Amino acid sequence: QSFSYLGLSEWLADACSQMGLKRPTPVQRSCIPQILNGLDVLGLAQTGSGKTAAFALPILHRLAQSLYGVFALVLTPTRELAFQLSDQFKALGSGLNLRCSVIIGGLDMIEQAKALMRRPHVVIATPGRLAHLLKNDPDIASVFKRIKFLVLDEADRILDFGFERELGIVLSSLPLHRQTLLFSATMTLELKALHELSGDKAFFFEA
Ligand code: AMP
Repeated sequence: QSFSYLGLSEWLADACSQMGLKRPTPVQRSCIPQILNGLDVLGLAQTGSGKTAAFALPILHRLAQSLYGVFALVLTPTRELAFQLSDQFKALGSGLNLRCSVIIGGLDMIEQAKALMRRPHVVIATPGRLAHLLKNDPDIASVFKRIKFLVLDEADRILDFGFERELGIVLSSLPLHRQTLLFSATMTLELKALHELSGDKAFFFEA
């Protein structure tokens, strides 16, 4: 089975084979069609399972159908993971001229605010820095008003790191009408509660 059988465009299937991804992994086989169908996903998957491509590919597929504004916000617990995610998005999205910004602590805040105002397609952020920018600059909130996807990568760690207050600030800047994709190595009560908000739009995957 190839990537195009999952409902992805041919150019994305080509990008996968160029990156040496021949067959979808289980998390990709289960989650990609559901994300393309508009469902909110909670995927329990370890690092190395191919979970990044499981959310990046359907997001890029949808993005190519309507290239505007900030399309997806991906939250991740650490700076290192933010750069890894950005590398994978850029590699898979090279056919789109994807504009992707990384918003993390330790980098110049003014430059980051400017980067957000240029409306990149995908924003990859740690919750602390993004919440700080949102609190200090009302214009930044408008950047996220029309996003279609929110991803929490390593969601158990995001909730565990005590990012809850920051997460609240970020969530309050996002539209309610969006797809929420949660990926986590372990199941937690917070995660379960968050996913239950999706009601009948929810899809659960466990390896
Ligand atoms: P992740 O679970 O997102 O941390 O993925 C870990 C690694 O698996 C990355 O280096 C990907 O390039 C690789 N990978 C993702 N999907 C596949 C696939 N379908 N076949 C082979 N390798 C993959």
